[in-house]
Order: sequence, then structure tokens, then C-alpha cells
Amino acid sequence: MDGSFDQPPYEAGTRYRMLLGLSSGLVLALAIIAPAVRAPSTADSLHAPPAFDAPEDKVVYLIPMGHLEEHDLEFLATGLEARLGVGVALLPPQATPAWAFQPDRGQYAASGIIDVLFVNYPPDAWRVLAVTTADITTDDVDMVYGYASSKDHLAVLSTARFRNDLASDAPHRRARAQDQLIRAAVHELAHTCDLPHCDHRGCLMAAITDRDQITSATALCPTCAQTLASRLAAPRDPAADGTDRADGLLARGYNLDALDLYLLHPPADTAAPRQLAAWDNRVGAALLSLELVAEGERLLRRAVAVDPAFAPAHYNLALVEAYAGNTDLAVDSLRTGAAVDPDPINRHGFAARFFLDALADPGSALIAYRAFQDAGGADPYLDQRLGPLDRPDIFVFSTDEAEVIKGRARKRRKKDL
Ligand SMILES: [Zn+2]
Ligand SMILES: [Zn+2]
Repeated sequence: MDGSFDQPPYEAGTRYRMLLGLSSGLVLALAIIAPAVRAPSTADSLHAPPAFDAPEDKVVYLIPMGHLEEHDLEFLATGLEARLGVGVALLPPQATPAWAFQPDRGQYAASGIIDVLFVNYPPDAWRVLAVTTADITTDDVDMVYGYASSKDHLAVLSTARFRNDLASDAPHRRARAQDQLIRAAVHELAHTCDLPHCDHRGCLMAAITDRDQITSATALCPTCAQTLASRLAAPRDPAADGTDRADGLLARGYNLDALDLYLLHPPADTAAPRQLAAWDNRVGAALLSLELVAEGERLLRRAVAVDPAFAPAHYNLALVEAYAGNTDLAVDSLRTGAAVDPDPINRHGFAARFFLDALADPGSALIAYRAFQDAGGADPYLDQRLGPLDRPDIFVFSTDEAEVIKGRARKRRKKDL
């Protein structure tokens, strides 16, 4: 979900506000949430034998929302069981959360629905899929059929665009709509197993914007099928699930709960530097979010000492330095992290947010934002804040350059006088 990627502006002001900005920034370096997902298409016929086999404790909890009843979803439950080889449990219906409604669009924010599902997550669920009659939307896409948050193990599917066919008297129209919805559900659940969108022609994991693209001929490509099969077949990992859950808690500001959960799941292999650094970084970030800055910084320094190539800890140290007012040290830490960060989208995206919110330097942020876009990155928050500045007729300077220019400009004005 691109979902909880929103970061409140970093405002210099009271200590409280600054810490808020700092905390949200920290989450950036930690929890990268799967991008918003759209309409899908899948494979095999409705009564195909299960393509996958999953351990018995992998149960998908299906939640009807809005005007759906449990019996409305039976086709989806049996369809998912048949296709994914997982157990499916139908939960009692819930209302679509009212606060996710966006009156200006007349639609519900998918990320708002995900947040409500996250708070009410059944502890023993493997994955949760809500199915709502409401029309759902995301920041960057007007209308979506489905939306998934892989780190949260949550997805939501909308039947709004299928409503007429689902209620139709014509059996073939009903069957087609149900089949499309099952395929859409498989697509979303595959996202919750960390499958990204796929460029293979006709693959189930392709991003599809029109439900007419969902036909009975579209299949998972061999690569996606193999990836999904191995994810489904793997035993459940309570430590990984607990860490994902804690990341979600931290991203939403439940800092103490996140810290507790991180501490419950220490690194499995204490001889693996990357595992140790990742754990130190997470605990460090939680401590910083709790305003225990010295303790948090100590863990972040330990993380970069044990694994100097672990970029997120450098990024978080950059935030610590920025918070302390040490701009030069902050930029040094940012650059050290960027130098070992293999993902250009993450590297430039973090830099853009860091310059924008932590250092209040929109010029440098815009330069990073352009590199982020060139690398294929997309971020509604950055689009909104930096998009208006990103015009060919606006010449961009970083803060350093702007100082030089201001100096020159002042001299010139004196002459004019
Ligand atoms: Zn998708
Ligand atoms: Zn594929």
C-alpha cells in the first residue's frame, strides 16, 4: 500500500512537533510498504484443481464490509480455497469504516480501510481480506478494484464495479463477475505474499485498470506461479510475522507496542551482521520515536558498526543529526547511507523526503525527487509537495547554492541603488 507512506511536514517549532517529524521520518527508513495495487486477472478455470498447497495453519480471514453478507462471499471463499490451497474463514460482516470516506470524491480511502483492519487484526489470521461494496480509491489512482498492504498482510477488494453483474438474473453474467472477483482476490493475496506487479504479458500479476481485462484466459506467468507456490508452501514464521506487525505499529505511532514486539523477536542468528543491524535499527527507531534519543542513537551506531553497508541505520542517524541541528553531519550520514543503498528508488526517495522535511531544503529535495522519478519512483506525498516546483522554467538550487546566489544578488542590488 502505498498507504501509510504519508509523512507530516517536518516543522521546526516546539520540541514535540520536531519529534513528530523525526518519528515519521524514521518510519521511512524502516517500513517500505508495497505500492498500491489495482485490478488483476488470473488463470485457470473456476473448478481447476488447487495449483498450490499451503500448510494448514495458513488461513485467510474474509471480512464482508458494507452491504455484503457472509453468504454473498461463499463463492469467494470456495474459489480461494480451490485456487490457493489455503484455508478460508468467513468473519461476521463489518461496516465500511465511515472515517475512510472522502466526501469530495464520494469514495472510500483504501488506506483508511487498511488502517482499521490493522487495528482489529485477528491474532491467529495468516492474511486478512476485506471485501467491500464501497468504491475505493488511493491518493494516486481514482478508482481501484483492490488494494493490498504486503507488510501488514492485509488487502481490501471492492465489488462496486461488479455490483450490477453480481445482482443480475443472467447466470452467465453472475458467474463471470464472480470469477473475475476470485481472480482479483488471488491477485491481492499474492501482493500480501510480497509479489509485485509483473510485466509478463497476460500475467495475473499485471496491473490492470479495466475489469474487462480479467478473462478466463489470463494466467500467472511461470515466474510468478513459482514465487507464489514457494511463499505459500513455506511454514509460517512467527518471528517474521511479529516483526512485520511491529513495523506496522511503529508506522502508525504505536511506538511502545512496536518496541515490545521487537524485543520479543530478537535476531534468530546472532552471528549474522545484517540481522543484528536490522534489529538494532528497528529497536533504535522505536526508542527515538519514544523520545529516548540517546538510547536510540546508541543502537543505531551499533548497527552501522556491525554492518556498515546497512543503509537504513545511516538514514536514521541522519535524522538524529538533523534533529540535533547538525546539518553537515546529517548530510554526511545521508550520503554514507546512499552510497551503500542498492535501490535507487529508495535512495532518492528518502533523500527527497529528508531534504524536504528534516532539513527544510526544497531545492535539494527537488533534485533528489527528479532522480527518484527517473528511477521509476512514485510517491503522492512528494508529488503534492514538490510537483508544483518541478517545472522546466524554475531553476533549482540547493541551500548551499542559494546562499551564494543571495550574496551575489545583494551586491547587484546595491549597485542598482
Ligand atoms: Zn496489483
Ligand atoms: Zn508474472
